[in-house]
Amino acid sequence: MNEKSCLVTGAASGIGRATALLLARSGARVTAADVNGPGVEALCTELTAEGCEVTAVTADVADPQANRAMVRAAVEAYGRLDVAVANAGVLPLSDVRETSPEDWDRVMAVDGRGMFLTCKYAIEAMTGQPRPGGALVCVSSISGVAGQARQAAYGPAKFVASGLTKHLAVEWAAHGIRVNAVAPGTIRTERVLALKDEPGGPEYLEEITGAHPMGRLGEPEEVARVIAFLASDAASFVTGVILPVDGGYLAR
Ligand code: NAD
Repeated sequence: MNEKSCLVTGAASGIGRATALLLARSGARVTAADVNGPGVEALCTELTAEGCEVTAVTADVADPQANRAMVRAAVEAYGRLDVAVANAGVLPLSDVRETSPEDWDRVMAVDGRGMFLTCKYAIEAMTGQPRPGGALVCVSSISGVAGQARQAAYGPAKFVASGLTKHLAVEWAAHGIRVNAVAPGTIRTERVLALKDEPGGPEYLEEITGAHPMGRLGEPEEVARVIAFLASDAASFVTGVILPVDGGYLAR
């Protein structure tokens, strides 16, 4: 990742934070963005103390102006954009009867439109720069590949991430831009660990853990390593792939 300019959205927590840490410690110049400003500031303070090159940006990815400004901030900080990891998302658990039209709109705004906007502005930057090209990694989910209960809005939003990956990969391959996704199984992030305090959460966690053939949940770092691979030149002939990182969940 030496000196590549990498943008990571949703970097204050979970998979995004683990990815920003790994990329920065691998020599990348990282723009860490999140709606949680103090969260990305704290991450950047930690990484700067280690001698890494990092910039914190506070942005709501669902807002087109903020999303565009976030991508511009990465280009301004490091002169170009080589990698964008579109990771920011909200993860509500609800069945279709419990999901209001407003719930649907909020999930689609962040997980659907937010991902679209990050891809759009990143591709605009990557095509418009000297030595055009780059790599996008979208964070989809097992829920963006297969159906699951209680994901009436979240699951369809993750299919948007998978769909963007396939379509944009084909659209931009000839321009030197690779677009791939990871499809994590259930990962022990702050959001998932908080489920144990929600109604039905403990039962869900027990059931979903058992549905992973490896018999455990994943760690954020296990997803970050696969994101870093897809973002790196080691994956130079890989595009349009939705790579499960799921302990065998989708193999069943
Ligand atoms: P998390 O809640 O720990 O982290 C998500 C981060 O995104 C937070 O820092 C949050 O502040 C940020 N965010 C939320 N809305 C935002 C917005 N509008 N603009 C900018 N930032 C925003 O969650 P996580 O588990 O690390 O999830 C990260 C991604 O991984 C999501 O896209 C999620 O769908 C996906 N994913 C997670 C799991 C899992 O089991 N944890 C499984 C599959 C996919």
